[in-house]
Amino acid sequence: MLIVMNHNATQADVDAISRIVSDMGFRAEPIPGSERTAIGVLGNHGYVDDSKILELPGVQRVIHVSKPYKLVSRDFHPDDTIVDVAGVKVGGGNRQVVVGGPCAVESLEQIVKTALFVKKSGADMLRGGAFKPRTGPHTFQGLREEGLKLLAIASKESGLPIVTEIMSPDNVGLVAEYADLLQVGARNMQNFDLLRELGKIRKPVLLKRGMSATVEEFLAAAEYILAEGNDQVILCERGIRTFETATRNTLDLSVVPLIKELSHLPIMVDPSHATGKRSLVSPMAKAALVAGADGVLVEVHPEPEKALSDGPQSLTFPAFEQMMNEIGLLTDFLRKD
Ligand code: PEP
Ligand code: MN
Repeated sequence: MLIVMNHNATQADVDAISRIVSDMGFRAEPIPGSERTAIGVLGNHGYVDDSKILELPGVQRVIHVSKPYKLVSRDFHPDDTIVDVAGVKVGGGNRQVVVGGPCAVESLEQIVKTALFVKKSGADMLRGGAFKPRTGPHTFQGLREEGLKLLAIASKESGLPIVTEIMSPDNVGLVAEYADLLQVGARNMQNFDLLRELGKIRKPVLLKRGMSATVEEFLAAAEYILAEGNDQVILCERGIRTFETATRNTLDLSVVPLIKELSHLPIMVDPSHATGKRSLVSPMAKAALVAGADGVLVEVHPEPEKALSDGPQSLTFPAFEQMMNEIGLLTDFLRKD
């Protein structure tokens, strides 16, 4: 339930209502907005009788939210959330960002070389997996803590913030020491213990859509992180499973404007995992930006044919540079209004 206050309601009105909501056994979360304050009512498991609340001073109306998410919804928070990743602002109409880097950190030379190249081409952040969620256990599983240390060196040399995946709630402390943005992969979108732990830290989280997750499930997963107090969440569409096998997944670009309607959180797009095919990455990255994505996440490798994971979808350096030039022209055009 959401209690919307009049624009001239006082702080005392808000405090009084918050007290009454607590007395009813629920949690009140005041959400100040540019026009008016709203008070989110959390912890109820069904319809709450609003008759008492509607009579209180300062109350304009009560909205009953039946969705499984509240804190991530625009009803609760009309203004865009801007996520700050080590100084890089994502969302809220800020310049659309590009995250580039290999699927996995493989060696010091590979990650530093890639970091310097993507930085020179204009990328805003460096990606690279140290903990890799591979389909089978007999493939490269990532360099784990050693990979995080190599990312730290690459970040220092390039000046780029680090985006890296977190797979287990037990490793949140460790990964948060190194990462500027902690990625929850598609396979862990509903790892609820992990989401809860990430809600307790004060670092931003990139939550990827599960490959079979509905938009409602996606937003409900983000709600777990916000419910623990961390509102620095960026959503990421990375393709979903459909009957189509010509591409690795099916990029569901319509979720970009849809999520902008439903939620205040920024949304990025990963055309690499969505398509699985190098030649499709740049066209779909540009399409995502036109659709209004707050950024794109793209795999790049110095020698994709030798990559230990996801080589076929990784851009070569020249292909990444060309994509960045085209994105530069496109985003200049999109920002001229
Ligand atoms: C990745 O970013 O390397 C990755 C494993 O992505 P996803 O979780 O979207 O498959
Ligand atoms: Mn990958």
